[in-house]
Amino acid sequence: MSALLQYNKIKYECTCGKWRTLPDLFFCRQCFKIKCDDCSCREIDVIFCPRCLEPSSPPDARLKKHRCTNCNDCPNCANVLSARTENEKCYLLCQHCRWSSRDANQEDRDNIRSWPSKENPFANELNEVTAYMKRLEKIENAPKDLKKGKSKAWSAFHLKDKFGVQQMVEKRRKQLVPEVNPIDVHAPTEAPTLEDEMKGRSDVLRTLDQVIMQPLTNLSESLLPVKVALQGRVLVRCDECERTLVKRDFGVATYKFKISSFAREFVPDIRLSRPIGELKVGQTSHVLLSITNLSLSPLDLTLTPQSGERTIQCSSDPIKLVLPSPKSADSAAPGVHAEQSDVIVFRQHNRVGLRLDVIPSESDLSSPVLDLLITYSQDGSFSHLAASEKILKPEESGVDRILSARLRIDLN
Ligand SMILES: [Zn+2]
Ligand SMILES: [Zn+2]
Ligand SMILES: [Zn+2]
Ligand SMILES: [Zn+2]
Repeated sequence: MSALLQYNKIKYECTCGKWRTLPDLFFCRQCFKIKCDDCSCREIDVIFCPRCLEPSSPPDARLKKHRCTNCNDCPNCANVLSARTENEKCYLLCQHCRWSSRDANQEDRDNIRSWPSKENPFANELNEVTAYMKRLEKIENAPKDLKKGKSKAWSAFHLKDKFGVQQMVEKRRKQLVPEVNPIDVHAPTEAPTLEDEMKGRSDVLRTLDQVIMQPLTNLSESLLPVKVALQGRVLVRCDECERTLVKRDFGVATYKFKISSFAREFVPDIRLSRPIGELKVGQTSHVLLSITNLSLSPLDLTLTPQSGERTIQCSSDPIKLVLPSPKSADSAAPGVHAEQSDVIVFRQHNRVGLRLDVIPSESDLSSPVLDLLITYSQDGSFSHLAASEKILKPEESGVDRILSARLRIDLN
C-alpha cells in the first residue's frame, strides 16, 4: 500500500533528526513535536495469544513461558493444528501437510489443552542457579535497603523476647539474609561423537524453520506440536512528557483506538501526485505534489523549497496557502477548480495540487532529492483538543502556534 501511494518516496524529519515516512510518525499534543519510534517509549499494554485472542496477565504469561496452552502449530509447516476426535479422544492434525500428533508417537488425549512440549533437561539446574543468584542479590542489596530504611527488622535487635518479637525478627532477618549454600558446579557432559550423532539421525533433514521452532529437539527425536507464542500489544508514549500517544481500545479483538495521535492528523500530508519524469542536466523538470490537510483545523501554510549542497535546485518561490479542514470542506461543492495558476494545479476540498520546477545539476542525477520546509499555523484546535483531554492548562489552549516540518522527496 505504501508503495502504491508512494509514501516511501517522501520522508519527514522527526524532532530527533531521523527521517521517517508520515504514517510512521506520531505527534505529541503537549510538546507540539513530531515523534518517531526511536524517540518515543513503548510499553506492553496487553499480552494475548494471536490465535485464540485470550489475554494473559504478565505473571500468568511468565508462568506459561509466553506460550498459549490451547493453541498449537504444526512443527513441520507452521500451519494451524486442528483437533480431531476419535473414540472420545482427540489428536492434533495439520490440514496442510497432514502431520498428526500420532506421527510423534503421542497418545490421543481427552482434551486439546496442555499438549506436551520438549522441556529443557537442565531446567531444574537452571532454576537452582537463578534462585542462588537471587539470594546473592538480596545480600548485596541489604546494606542499601538498610540505608533507605526499607527494612525495619534490623532496628529491633535489642528487643527482649518477652512477646515473641525476637522470633519474628529472626524470621524476618532470615528472609533478608538468606542462607547461602553454594551449589554444585555443573558437571560437564561428554559431547556426543560424530558416530553417535549419525546413528540416531533420521533420513529426512529438518529445515532451518523447524529447528528454530524447536531448538531443544535432537535430530533423533520426533517433533512435537509447537505451542503458539504470545504477543504483546504496545502503547506509545512521548519520551519527554510521558503522555500517551497511541492506545488501543479495551479488548484484544478491537481495531479502534482510545487515544491516537498520529502525525498524519496534525501535519500536512504531502505526496507525489504524478511520477517524476526523466531528469536532464540544466533542464527544468516539474515535480507535481498534492498537499492534504487531514487535521481538524484549517491550516495557514507556507511551503519553502530548501537549497543545499546535496539537494536539487528548485526555482519555485515559497508558496502560501490556506487549506481548509476536511470537515469544513464537506460543505463546498466537490471538484471545483479554483485559484489555478502556474504553481497551483488543482484545488479540491482539503487538497491542493502544486507544481514545483527543479533544475538538476550533474551531481544531483545519482541521487536527486528535494528538501522542503513547511511552516503552518492552525486555529488553536490542536491545543483545544489537548485542553478538552486535560492535557494542557485552560490558559494555554487556543493559542496559535507556528509549527514546522521538514521533508525530503526522493526524485529517483
Ligand atoms: Zn524521533
Ligand atoms: Zn491461544
Ligand atoms: Zn503441517
Ligand atoms: Zn510530549
